[in-house]
Amino acid sequence: MHFDTLAIQATHQTDPTTGAVVPPIHLSTKFERDPETYELVGPYGYTRFSNPNRDAFEGALATLEGGAVGMAFGSGQAATMSLLQALRPGDHVVMPRQCYFSTPMLLEQVFHPWGLTYTRVEMSDVQAVQAAIHENTRLVWVETPSNPLLTLTDLLLIAQMAHEAGALVVADNTWPTPVLQRPLDLNCDIVMHSTTKYIGGHSDVLGGALVFKDANNELATRVRQIQQLGGAVPSPFDCWLLSRGLRTLGVRVRAQQATAQAIAEFLEGHSRVERVYYPGLDSHPQRALAKQQMNGPGAMLSFDVKGEAEDALRVCGNLKLFTRATSLGGTESLIEHRPTIEGIHTMAPPNSLRMSVGLEHAEDLIADLDQALKYGR
Ligand SMILES: *Cc1c(COP(=O)(O)O)cnc(C)c1O
Repeated sequence: MHFDTLAIQATHQTDPTTGAVVPPIHLSTKFERDPETYELVGPYGYTRFSNPNRDAFEGALATLEGGAVGMAFGSGQAATMSLLQALRPGDHVVMPRQCYFSTPMLLEQVFHPWGLTYTRVEMSDVQAVQAAIHENTRLVWVETPSNPLLTLTDLLLIAQMAHEAGALVVADNTWPTPVLQRPLDLNCDIVMHSTTKYIGGHSDVLGGALVFKDANNELATRVRQIQQLGGAVPSPFDCWLLSRGLRTLGVRVRAQQATAQAIAEFLEGHSRVERVYYPGLDSHPQRALAKQQMNGPGAMLSFDVKGEAEDALRVCGNLKLFTRATSLGGTESLIEHRPTIEGIHTMAPPNSLRMSVGLEHAEDLIADLDQALKYGR
């Protein structure tokens, strides 16, 4: 089946008791036991452990990623935290130098004091990755395309290197989504999502998820314990919204991607733009890898405005259709100055802007960018 068909099939269950075509939201935190046997009446007991809406979302996402088991969390960071917590003090993690900046921050500030060791590495440098993998390496973290400069990592190659050393590979698949990239098909072991982004898709729900390729994975069992006992779980309503998001994920991402491609081409030809970072352009140094491991370049892009930080901020301030806000993956186009958000440790040039392309018409967005770039100097 194609992704779009699978997305509808995986999220559509007619309610057997009422015939409701859209699944009901089960807000109940507790479920009753039988008076005779004291067995639970249904498969559920207490919502921290599991809940019909969470089960449905976890199953649907696992299907769409081609994995065996899915686990949903209260945020992307809660998913990352639960995975890192499943390691043991003394274990080593390989972490990209360039990725969503709170991921290494969590490792450095919370899990390093707790006993995890780590090496930050440029993931596109194969030799550097090889050198960073030690015998106590349990996990190699990958984020491709990376935030904020859209550098790609060769998933097949990294998975091979990690497996040779007995380590697992986790891919943060938040940006491409399973519509454009399925890391488990490329030999990765775990997929991580901030479902806050494209999967929720409407900037109104915070969430995270992990999908494991193998249900019998020891780490998967441990993470499930941490999810159920630690309790960093999403509410039933959040899970219901996320399942709804999955139904339109394919059409949204493809429409946003088509507009992003048009914008990237427009920006690349603009005299006030120094550089565009987008794997859908021939100028992207890893265009071939993008074609090989992705179904499309996605709807995120960054670009450098000619000049200094103040020039980039001026363009940002002149835009009328783009919302100046952090995050990504919603229906509204967003623009942000990542160096301001990330602070002194940022990898983003001071004159760069990052864009999450929404569902507005491409011509309107391009006209807005054109007027914003035309300020007098
Ligand atoms: C937003 C984001 C995260 C963190 O997710 P939250 O839902 O904000 O906790 C992790 N990775 C990437 C790539 C993200 O964009």
